[in-house]
Amino acid sequence: MSDEVRTRFAPSPTGYLHLGGLRTALYTYLFAKKHGGKFILRIEDTDQEREVPGAVDLIYKSMRQAGLAYDEGPDVGGEYGPYIQTQRRDLYPKFAWELVEKGGAYCCFCTKEEIEADRKAAEAKGETYKYNKKCLHNVSLEEAKRRIAAGEPYVIRQNVPTTGKASFDDMLYGHVEVDCDTLDDNVLIKADGLPTYNFANVVDDHLMAISHVMRGTEYLSSAPKYNLLYEAFGWKPPIYLHLPPVMIESVLRDKETKQPILDENGNEQPIVRKLSKRWGDPSFEDLLQKGYLKEAIINYIALLGWAPKDTNEEFFSMDDLIRIFDENGINKSPSIFDTNKLTWFNAEYIRRLTPEDRRFILGGEIPECAPVGIPDAAQAHPGVPAQTLHLFAGLGRVEIYPAALPDNGDRYRIDFAIGVDQPQNRPLTFVCYRPAEGFGHFTVFSAHKIRPFP
Ligand code: GLU
Repeated sequence: MSDEVRTRFAPSPTGYLHLGGLRTALYTYLFAKKHGGKFILRIEDTDQEREVPGAVDLIYKSMRQAGLAYDEGPDVGGEYGPYIQTQRRDLYPKFAWELVEKGGAYCCFCTKEEIEADRKAAEAKGETYKYNKKCLHNVSLEEAKRRIAAGEPYVIRQNVPTTGKASFDDMLYGHVEVDCDTLDDNVLIKADGLPTYNFANVVDDHLMAISHVMRGTEYLSSAPKYNLLYEAFGWKPPIYLHLPPVMIESVLRDKETKQPILDENGNEQPIVRKLSKRWGDPSFEDLLQKGYLKEAIINYIALLGWAPKDTNEEFFSMDDLIRIFDENGINKSPSIFDTNKLTWFNAEYIRRLTPEDRRFILGGEIPECAPVGIPDAAQAHPGVPAQTLHLFAGLGRVEIYPAALPDNGDRYRIDFAIGVDQPQNRPLTFVCYRPAEGFGHFTVFSAHKIRPFP
């Protein structure tokens, strides 16, 4: 392996790019760029049951929108391709058989029913299920080859030693070590011939000459086992940095109905949980649709669990981030996603735009924008000048700013927008005021046509 830094972002195409994934992609990109290396996109689609149609294209689109240009990837090419795992399907069994020959793996013919019965029996005894290596001990390699030639379905399993320890060194968590007898003999090649993540990530990181791997802590406990595979092949493992999860403050909800579960006093029960699309948390795409500027999102996401050293500055462009990013500033504890803080960043970014940039970023005019009364405000503060309408027209897609404060450089400012979460085909309502005259002069407008950012 050369000394070149090569990192990869390896999403599974299961839906929109969630914010934890975006942060992993961003840090991975920044690390590569900071070290003058290459950033690679690999699509991990071997779990075909979880694949969502259209998700691969969404990943390409989101990466482009986020400004995370990859040097190699499925739609840009590169000398280590293909970069979609199902297109590499023929090469994994070859490596699995190499391991079988070396004793690091074996063929298993147990049926799903047998495995399920063993699992239930273990659970009934209060034990954690582990495959009992029946096929390793009872089926010789010659017999295995005969049965496979006769068409019998089989999987290939990793042969984890029953004694000793497996370990690896993480850049953030240090030395991680587990007893081998706690590890299960994972399936490496499934009955459909496709590899599991456990195997494909090792083979591909090796073949793609990946030097550094950043990914979520959900893989921290499996990494020692992956290291056993590297050892069995005689390959040099990449350097790992596992990232703590992104959390959100929420309330306890019923899994089915999604309604809050109240305590005995009828109060909602606050919890902190992992950001998750299952609970309706926003994806990167959702935030763009709501009018958050991508620069503000990236800036905020960069600071979600990382802080630059030697500066209190909070505003960073992508170029700034490439310059100052330092993995030693990554925090080990989980970070909390705070919509208010993101909204504040967004408002600051909109404030800082020059009028030209604002026109450029915010696009054309709002085709329909007429004052509508909200009785209280409009009656209490009648007679809002007509110029206010021009203000809206000049600013374009003002309707999708979340609580932003764009200064039009003239006499009027839009202070806040309400209703930004309404569906796109519904009118949104805005409240304006004239700063010179204080907060007393309110009027309410409704914008009927809402267009997302390009
Ligand atoms: N495909 C894995 C996921 O989406 C990536 C894990 C990794 O980066 O190794 O979680």
